[in-house]
Amino acid sequence: MDILISGAGVAGLSAAVDLGARGHRVTLVERSSHFRVNGSPIDVRGDAIAVAENMGLLAKIRDRQLRMTENSVFVDAGGTVLAALPLAETSDSDDDIEIAREDLATVLAEALPADATVRFRDSVAALADDGAGVDVRFASGDTGRFDLVIGADGLHSAVRRLSFGPESGFVKHLGVYAAIADLPAEAGSGGPNPTYNFPGHMASIMRYRDRALAVFLFRSDPIEYDYHDLDAQRKVLADAFAGHDEWRIPELIAAAMADPELYFDSSSQIHMPSWHRGRVVLVGDAAHAASGLSGRGTSLALLGTSFLTEELDEDDLEAGFERYEARQRPYVRAAQAGVADGADLVVPATREDIAARNARLQTTLGRRTSS
Ligand SMILES: Cc1cc2nc3c(=O)[nH]c(=O)nc-3n(C[C@H](O)[C@H](O)[C@H](O)COP(=O)(O)OP(=O)(O)OC[C@H]3O[C@@H](n4cnc5c(N)ncnc54)[C@H](O)[C@@H]3O)c2cc1C
Repeated sequence: MDILISGAGVAGLSAAVDLGARGHRVTLVERSSHFRVNGSPIDVRGDAIAVAENMGLLAKIRDRQLRMTENSVFVDAGGTVLAALPLAETSDSDDDIEIAREDLATVLAEALPADATVRFRDSVAALADDGAGVDVRFASGDTGRFDLVIGADGLHSAVRRLSFGPESGFVKHLGVYAAIADLPAEAGSGGPNPTYNFPGHMASIMRYRDRALAVFLFRSDPIEYDYHDLDAQRKVLADAFAGHDEWRIPELIAAAMADPELYFDSSSQIHMPSWHRGRVVLVGDAAHAASGLSGRGTSLALLGTSFLTEELDEDDLEAGFERYEARQRPYVRAAQAGVADGADLVVPATREDIAARNARLQTTLGRRTSS
């Protein structure tokens, strides 16, 4: 089949690798000018590890495994360590593989089929499914006809909007925003990864290998801004931390303002009754974002694209899509339900909640510093 995949994140790239391996011709269209390989390290966990193995990529992923999260501590405004993040509260098992998002994306991009086409700086502007194929008009003005269109374009999916309706009908805001920026001044500095909280806010330094990131979370009701506008994102972030000069907040915010690849988004979920319509089907965050608080978005993306590929049936698309959804839904339900208290751990709402969290986790710190 001739398949168009909108979005070249983990879901889009893994779909292209899986489908290409089965002999389909894939075209990827990516809004950015390059593969967006930034972001904080993520986890490949549970059954997604077997998916990576089936793709022949597990050894490469293991080669790049990190142990960043187990080095995380909570500090006060003066930088004194108060508590440590217990691994048991962030991972499912010792088998979880923590890997830099850029490393996973690179491993997947290197595995793309040789005949795959990638259209950077473009996106789907219009779709017309006539039952026998889908006519696509791109934002660039180019057109094409495909047997299948896969929406792998993330939380704010254009394919979902065009085929299923506005995002507002499917999105569930979890009351938290997240930002991640490069922190070159701390690159290669080593040491534990400190997290500082003030009520409803978190600022953190995450170091791995020779890199360092500034990571922010803050609680907020939904904020109106253009999520394609980097300056608008910068302003929302700066406003959320304005007036806070304690700990290292000013230098971390300055790094975020300077980073042209700043990642900023809401922690939101997507809930849809169906992920397919005619010859259009959704995968990854576009279909079922669980939010960064779940720690499972990447694994869900790998699982879903493998199920879709295995179940794809050219002679009966509808039946194949139904089987894909039936296999994927239990994983999505568990991941989306699992975020219930994720924010309470890393971004407690009140001063009392911060103190209670630190008191609860002091025992972890004691065990870690005495070992
Ligand atoms: C830059 C970046 C950094 C991230 N960092 C983290 C992180 O640190 N922690 C975490 O838990 N999750 C992070 N995420 C989200 C995480 O990658 C996903 O939850 C998970 O991997 C599922 O991936 P996905 O491919 O479905 O969606 P995404 O990873 O969101 O990928 C979607 C892709 O589609 C592209 N795209 C968007 N709209 C269009 C369009 N209209 N046309 C064409 N292309 C489009 C995007 O540029 C992106 O490449 C990040 C996502 C991005 C894009």
